[in-house]
Amino acid sequence: MKVDEKLTKNFFKLSEKSHIEIEQSLCASCDPKVCIWVCPAGLYSITEDGRTVVEYSGCLECGTCFIACPKGAIKWEHPVGGFGVQYRYG
Ligand code: SF4
Ligand code: SF4
Repeated sequence: MKVDEKLTKNFFKLSEKSHIEIEQSLCASCDPKVCIWVCPAGLYSITEDGRTVVEYSGCLECGTCFIACPKGAIKWEHPVGGFGVQYRYG
């Protein structure tokens, strides 16, 4: 089974509150916006009005975005207990 196929088997228990916060004032001068490229789930995007957003509900909890952001604009923590990703195939 390919990695992409394995990822589709994961189960997500959604919390109403995002475990990822982005400081938009720091993103404004960020180029390139590496969060777009490093997230293995492709959850980051830029809105039409230039805001950086993340679809936290699909987060794999790898922490890559937090480490890679050159501005320290991402506040990241694990979802509250019982929520978040449940891996089916490691
Ligand atoms: S890499 Fe960090 S500073 Fe740059 S757009 Fe993404 S969250 Fe904002
Ligand atoms: S922790 Fe990993 S999967 Fe979650 S948003 Fe950051 S890079 Fe994407």
